[in-house]
Amino acid sequence: GALCADASREPALAVVGLHKRYGEFTALSAVDLTVAPGEFVCLLGPSGCGKTTLLRLIAGLEAVSGGRILMRGRDVTRLPPMRRDYGIVFQSYALFPNLSVAENIAYGLSGRREHRARRVAELLALVGLDGAERKFPAQLSGGQQQRVALARALATNPGLLLLDEPLSALDARVREHLRREIKDLQARLGVTTVMVTHDQEEALAMADRVVVMSRGRVEQIGTPGEIYGQPRTAFVADFIGRANWFEATVRRHGEIAVDRVTLSVAQALPEPGSTGRVFLRPEDVRLHPVWLGGPNTALARPGKIEHLGGFCRVSLTVPLWGDLPLLADVSQDELARLRLVPGQLVPVTLPADRLRMFAAEAA
Ligand code: ATP
Repeated sequence: GALCADASREPALAVVGLHKRYGEFTALSAVDLTVAPGEFVCLLGPSGCGKTTLLRLIAGLEAVSGGRILMRGRDVTRLPPMRRDYGIVFQSYALFPNLSVAENIAYGLSGRREHRARRVAELLALVGLDGAERKFPAQLSGGQQQRVALARALATNPGLLLLDEPLSALDARVREHLRREIKDLQARLGVTTVMVTHDQEEALAMADRVVVMSRGRVEQIGTPGEIYGQPRTAFVADFIGRANWFEATVRRHGEIAVDRVTLSVAQALPEPGSTGRVFLRPEDVRLHPVWLGGPNTALARPGKIEHLGGFCRVSLTVPLWGDLPLLADVSQDELARLRLVPGQLVPVTLPADRLRMFAAEAA
């Protein structure tokens, strides 16, 4: 009936008001997080922000100092790890070196011998290591060992997959390849996944939603598009992607002053007189082959040009705006059309709808 809780709508994981202290030190403070069934969530943040601590609390490898953890509505806060129904993969492969691949994977499996052998073969096929049963960890590459670790974590069909920086010990090419494979596998199996990473590119590429953390707190939870395009705090804006930053003062509705320059801003602004930082993504800076004028437009002096694969990053300064430094990302084609000449000024626009001001934090 309408009053019954719908079990299928129950979050796969809910973290409610979680706190963790180590003596005097607060590692996590009032962390709330809800993960839907089948969702892939990444915990992202700089070293020491508490992401590993959060994962270890979910896994039951550490005791909470306050708050609750629920898996499919079941309170597991005080349950030991083996009663929580998850599989986990760590950064270091953590395979038993003296056991074969098959024995490593079957370690947590119960049931008859043939049944377990069939399951192991199935799992090896799943992670692209068909027929590797009799190999030993030392005979495998780092990437292959992580696939075995993944197979082992998935062996019992756990309700939750926890990944603690599973790719960070691998070299760049293997990492990128395995990143895509893990993502595909996760989507195919529909297993709810929480992954810790300090690599923003990895988080944006893999996650349905990213949890950006700083100093034991959640700064923002959102889709990669939201986190990148609508950062809610200056920390998130700064941590994710590249950005131009300007110190600014609000002049009036829709207008800010950067140094002695007035710029239009589409966003609702704080009170006139408020100070803060304004940010603008390098790809949102517009360069024009000819002068067309318009708001927020001036002439800039091009400097260094870096070719970064898919795009080019142009360093500029704007003499009329107090030599304001700017980074602009443009495509190869755009760069060709611009015909930049060292020392020759180029018109630049800071689009009003792309400038975002963050009020200075109260001290
Ligand atoms: P990293 O990417 O470096 O692992 P992290 O975001 O995962 O960073 P945590 O490992 O969760 O960070 O640590 C968060 C904070 O808690 C750090 O300042 C760390 O020093 C502290 N901390 C973690 N474990 C303990 C412990 N057992 N005793 C005391 N302090 C701890």
